[in-house]
Amino acid sequence: MYCNYCGKSIQDDANVCAYCGTRVGGVIARKRLVRPREGRKIAGVCLGVAEYFDIDVTLVRLVWLITALTTGIGFIAYIIAWIVMPEEPYLLPAQAPAAGQQQVTHPLG
Ligand SMILES: [Zn+2]
Repeated sequence: MYCNYCGKSIQDDANVCAYCGTRVGGVIARKRLVRPREGRKIAGVCLGVAEYFDIDVTLVRLVWLITALTTGIGFIAYIIAWIVMPEEPYLLPAQAPAAGQQQVTHPLG
């Protein structure tokens, strides 16, 4: 794939562009319908929908609220979305440590 920022060809599974350091992995992660952990108002449903479709979250909230207030379907839809949409996984700065760094559980803490 190509870096959106500098346009250079980079590894397909790269999280960060090796040339300019721009995070590229997160863009792909956003293509899943998830509830982001940051910037949410209630459960992050509207924010997740907005990011998935790449539209303004305020617009999503407005439409959702109007639908909820006028038809009542919005409330049910929100709760269903809350249940079915997974939470955004924590974005780790680096890959998991290699073998040999596993935590040892001490019985005496
Ligand atoms: Zn780049």
